[in-house]
Amino acid sequence: MRALALHWQILIALALAAGAGLFTDTQTKLLGVSLLGSYELIGTLFINALKMLIVPLVVAAMVTSIGSIGSARGFGRLSLRTLLLYLTTTAAAVCVGVLLINLISPGLSDGQPVGAQLGLDARAAQIAQSVKGGAGEGLTKILLGVVPENIIEAARAADMLALIFFSLVFGYFMNQLEGVPDATLKAFWEGVFDVMMRMTMWVMRFAPLGVFGLVAEVVAETGLGGIRPLLVFAATVLAALAFHMFITLPALLCFVGRINPWRYFKAVSPALLTAFSTASSNGTLPVNIACLENNVGVSKKISNFVLPLGATLNMDGTALYECVGALFLIQAYGVDLTFGTQVLVAVMALLTAVGVAGVPAASLVAIAVIITSVGLPAESIGVLFVTDRLLDMCRTSVNVMGDGAVTTLVARWEGETQFKV
Ligand code: ASP
Repeated sequence: MRALALHWQILIALALAAGAGLFTDTQTKLLGVSLLGSYELIGTLFINALKMLIVPLVVAAMVTSIGSIGSARGFGRLSLRTLLLYLTTTAAAVCVGVLLINLISPGLSDGQPVGAQLGLDARAAQIAQSVKGGAGEGLTKILLGVVPENIIEAARAADMLALIFFSLVFGYFMNQLEGVPDATLKAFWEGVFDVMMRMTMWVMRFAPLGVFGLVAEVVAETGLGGIRPLLVFAATVLAALAFHMFITLPALLCFVGRINPWRYFKAVSPALLTAFSTASSNGTLPVNIACLENNVGVSKKISNFVLPLGATLNMDGTALYECVGALFLIQAYGVDLTFGTQVLVAVMALLTAVGVAGVPAASLVAIAVIITSVGLPAESIGVLFVTDRLLDMCRTSVNVMGDGAVTTLVARWEGETQFKV
């Protein structure tokens, strides 16, 4: 018998957790064991397992993605155009996210932070206090933190900005090696990345249990009202994703590429639907290549180079989600969203989205990275699990749409098209 798909298992776990949480209070015991304590234990084990993956996963992802740009060196102008367009579209997505967070403020309800309602209250006040100092101290301190004195110390402290910086520089110089050392190092880092991805998938198999523990604990402590702020958060993410998908990218296609967006949507709809149902842009890559070549009319040369690069590096929806997710948590903790904090989060979302793998739920780890860098506890991403699957399906579609739109524009500029749209 085939096992139920993971997202169904998670949804069922959610429903069970809501029920279990409602019937639990601090005194409830089963066979003499406190139920609330058990929920907490299960949830913490799951979050710890995710946290243990962060450092090696991020370093390997960054080094290998820079490595993959290096192998495209021969493409010169093409890679430059591609990377610039990828960067611009992702930055546009992140800006929409920041704008909507400021307009809607999903982390506040009647001007009060929603952290307590979400069960983030245990250390909220204390953390908000310590973060206020850290995040508010401006960009100078942040910039100084980017270059670590000691990389082992940075890894121990899960100091993500420093690790990302080191990995980018490492990847850059790795590309300058030639011959055997180059190939060996690249193979090593790709191997580490593969192993880390497998470990992530393995940990994710326990997501239904972990989600059960985390959500049951929140519901037991705060009741179902605890879930409400998440709906406002999800609506904010969906509105921002929709803006990018239906306004920014079509406008780019229409005004820069002179392509009819409506016909374009029809041509790539199989890829968008695959992305929506699998929540994996890697998994969607073959369908996207087929759509662009057969339905849009982009040449093989362009689609085979630009699309795989995009599936690895370019994640508009993911960067947007990371940014909104991290800012939401920061706001929910009662920390002011100062200009400096917002810039830091936006830049980190741009950078880490490059390293996020195109598989389901991959950006949650990146959000943990971002919030730890502003001093919040990584475990607060637990609350985002509740709405993650639906948002993942939508952001993956936006990722895939972003890759296709950039590929089509590059093809137009390179004259590599027999456009059918
Ligand atoms: N599921 C996304 C993708 O495959 C990655 C993420 O944002 O979690 O594109």
